[in-house]
Amino acid sequence: MSPRAPESYNLFLNTSLKDEDPVLYELVEKEKYRQFSGLELIASENFTSQAVMEANGTPLTNKYSEGLPGARYYGGNEYIDEIEKLCQTRALEAFHLDPEQWGVNVQPYSGSTANFAAFTALIQPFDRIMGLDLPSGGHLTHGYQTDKKKISASSIYFQSMPYQVDPKTGLIDYDRLEENAKLFRPQLLISGASAYPRDWDYARMRKIADNHSAYLMCDMAHYSGLVAACEQNNPFDYCDIVTTTTHKTLRGPRAGLIFFRRRPGEDKKTSIETRVNQAVFPSCQGGPHNNTIAAIAVALKQAASPEFAQYAKQVRANARALAARLISHGYTLATGGTDNHLVLWDLKPQGLTGSKIEKICDLVNITLNKNSISGDKSAVTPGGVRLGSSALTSRGFKEADFEQVADFLHEIVTLAGEIQASCGSKLLKDFLAAAEKNDKISDLQKRVEAFATSFPMPGFDASTLNKPTTH
Ligand code: PLP
Repeated sequence: MSPRAPESYNLFLNTSLKDEDPVLYELVEKEKYRQFSGLELIASENFTSQAVMEANGTPLTNKYSEGLPGARYYGGNEYIDEIEKLCQTRALEAFHLDPEQWGVNVQPYSGSTANFAAFTALIQPFDRIMGLDLPSGGHLTHGYQTDKKKISASSIYFQSMPYQVDPKTGLIDYDRLEENAKLFRPQLLISGASAYPRDWDYARMRKIADNHSAYLMCDMAHYSGLVAACEQNNPFDYCDIVTTTTHKTLRGPRAGLIFFRRRPGEDKKTSIETRVNQAVFPSCQGGPHNNTIAAIAVALKQAASPEFAQYAKQVRANARALAARLISHGYTLATGGTDNHLVLWDLKPQGLTGSKIEKICDLVNITLNKNSISGDKSAVTPGGVRLGSSALTSRGFKEADFEQVADFLHEIVTLAGEIQASCGSKLLKDFLAAAEKNDKISDLQKRVEAFATSFPMPGFDASTLNKPTTH
């Protein structure tokens, strides 16, 4: 039978984005040029591949599939089941896990929902959790609260007592964690962080958890790509449950995963597996995003390849090169360096704030984020910035290129110091107004853009992009 005439349905359903919505299309084009023409140093970002983006843009987005493969609440899921099972298998393979010992739920919409679902599976409302404090580099979802307010749902629905880094060394103070755990008696101990440049002592944390019959969880969101490539200690050796985002070092689409340990002979009804699967759906989420699950499957296939192992090695080498060059310019880094993909740079010795450096970097096409450094007096104006090497390594940057990046950063910090001294005000808005008028800033912006655009761009064809007239 030939297809029906197009008049029988709305024509705009088959129109390209460019033709249908030129306003939105242009904004996307501008964002693509921004990504291509800048130095992306945000440690939680990466540039995913064309194949991942293609999978993410498929008609799989049309399908409802509440439930799990083989047990859905909707019909028509024969191919969706295959896709989700493929994603599960690849997740276990990418992290070298035996399916007898580990399972995975690939449906979480993001890292935050994966974490909340993991808590929902493991513990009861008002149970006690211990995670790394946000000002020490921990993530919001690990129980963050301030003196005045419970910020994260993880501190609203559970009782949270954070552990911290030693303010002198910047390293996790495991001794103090152990002491405090004796008083607080947590039901759940969380390892993993968002701004910690060193590796984790999971064996030590397992011991502390065992002292209180607590679960040990790892949120490896930031460095899961490095774990897959065996470039970090392996949380699976010690933890009961491991969560991750899929879009940071793992270089996939935006989503989350929850891995759970299987125990031989356990009662299926009360197993962590059953509790995790029920926590994800129906407790915390509705229908899975099947286009995203397909894109995760692609990313995991890539993450299991020798090329990805090489990439992960280079990510670490590049972070080390960046750190070493900054130190050679006389700067202070939290913990004095890095073991992973990120560098925490303390700008207090230069009399600058992370906010000022973040803003002035935006003016010269360098993207990074302000970050608190242990010992900062104010969380509102953090004393440092966080830098990551994952995204630029995806663009083919090597150690020498990261030394050039460090030299650009040195230039900008030197300039920021001059601008702050000459503008006669410590206010961010006055500082920015002075920076915008500074000729050296516009010169640096041009040099950064020329440098950035000399590298290839993963995921899309940058050669067809036009430089936007307004940025
Ligand atoms: N866990 C950690 C350690 C993170 O760093 C982040 C995000 O940066 C998340 C969880 C949350 O992930 P998402 O933004 O996907 O919710």
